[in-house]
Amino acid sequence: MRFTISSRTIAIILSLLVAAVLTTLAWLGPTMPFQQGVLAAGITVAACFLLLYLMFEALIFREINNIYEGLENIKRKEFRRMSNKFLFRPEPLKRMRDEILDMAQRKQQEIDELKRLQALRREFLADVSHELKTPIFAAQGFVHTILDDDEVDEFTRKKFLQKAATSLDALDALVQDLVTISQLEKGVVRMRRQRFDLGQLVQDIFEQLELKAARRHVTLELLPLPAATPSLVLADRNRIRQVLINLIDNAIKYGRENGHVRVSFAETGKSLRVRVQDDGEGIPKQHQNRIFERFYRIDKSRTRESREAGGSGLGLAISKHIVEAHKSTIRVRSELGQGTTLEFKLPKPKKVVGDEPVKE
Ligand code: ADP
Repeated sequence: MRFTISSRTIAIILSLLVAAVLTTLAWLGPTMPFQQGVLAAGITVAACFLLLYLMFEALIFREINNIYEGLENIKRKEFRRMSNKFLFRPEPLKRMRDEILDMAQRKQQEIDELKRLQALRREFLADVSHELKTPIFAAQGFVHTILDDDEVDEFTRKKFLQKAATSLDALDALVQDLVTISQLEKGVVRMRRQRFDLGQLVQDIFEQLELKAARRHVTLELLPLPAATPSLVLADRNRIRQVLINLIDNAIKYGRENGHVRVSFAETGKSLRVRVQDDGEGIPKQHQNRIFERFYRIDKSRTRESREAGGSGLGLAISKHIVEAHKSTIRVRSELGQGTTLEFKLPKPKKVVGDEPVKE
């Protein structure tokens, strides 16, 4: 059986005990008459009761009640400090109370963060399965049509096989991007510091994307630094190449047909600013920050368009990670009907430095 006792009951018991001891002593002594003895006992009980009751109430019970009240508040997610209506408070109890409440608050915040991460993970898993399904089903469909239909002529067979191959290529790109993003998020990827010419890198990428741009009649332009200064930076060449491919590829994909894609550089103190600009239909304000989220696409029709053009929906999320691992930020500026600009900065090298790994 559980036995609970209040501060009042303890105070009464203790007062009676003290009074009993004192009165017995007084009784046994020859000087005090009986009536005075009873009066003394009454006064002692009252005084002891008041003292002990106040002590328990003020020092311990109230303090503990207060801790409970605080914990209740934390449960209800009301992270506010508790009332301080105390006569006096001993230091160890105060410290204990503050520590318990701080710990409970921290734990509650950790639980909330874990719940948020769990929701994100669930959402990510749903997105990944959805994205994987599309190319798998497409390839499966083409291959089964060829297998199931004996009368498919050579031309159609080849066409279907090509389509299946395209879907499998998209699947491969998606899986590679998934591996990259999970490594970047785990923080296991280390960025190298290499001194290289960004202008040269952009020229290489232009050559690689020439055909894609030609299909949409897009002109690719590089605006180098004035006075033919080499656009040297200190960064991870391969990773920055990946970022620039994503940005230039998007500018071609989502830019205007027959339009222009411009890459420009500007020196800003110790860094070099890189801009990739298109003259497409632009990105509405409410989507501008969200385009860096994994699998975020502005609309459904573009989803299909982007998949057909080989977009995994992870390009900008990966680019953001890479740029941030270089201690920089990627920014978007866009005006509807005018076009979109994405930009970031990279450090310029001081003197000749060899390759050295840099912590992410
Ligand atoms: P995707 O593989 O879909 O291109 P990204 O992560 O590269 O994935 O881009 C995310 C979304 O951001 C795109 O689906 C597109 O809706 C939008 N977006 C990216 N770049 C541009 C751009 N230059 N102009 C307009 N919209 C863009």
